[in-house]
Amino acid sequence: MRDAAADIARRAWLDCPRCAGAADCATCRAGRTCDTHWRYMLGSAGRNIFLQCPECLHRWWHDTGFGVGDRPPGIGDVSGFWTDVA
Ligand SMILES: [Zn+2]
Ligand SMILES: [Zn+2]
Repeated sequence: MRDAAADIARRAWLDCPRCAGAADCATCRAGRTCDTHWRYMLGSAGRNIFLQCPECLHRWWHDTGFGVGDRPPGIGDVSGFWTDVA
């Protein structure tokens, strides 16, 4: 079931741990914002972001690897990982 916090305006282009679809996608491999392979970004805490895959509905935390865990939740800069769709 889709998470209540899932919002198509907040998306992240990260590989789903369950789906392997993006591995064969030229757009994803080029680091582009693929129209097919994206995940809902449900929230963030420190340097971790919480994602849901729209294909298999798997939810997981992703460690962005930056921020060193010292940012208070809510003001973390994750702008490099997701893009607003106007
Ligand atoms: Zn998935
Ligand atoms: Zn793709």
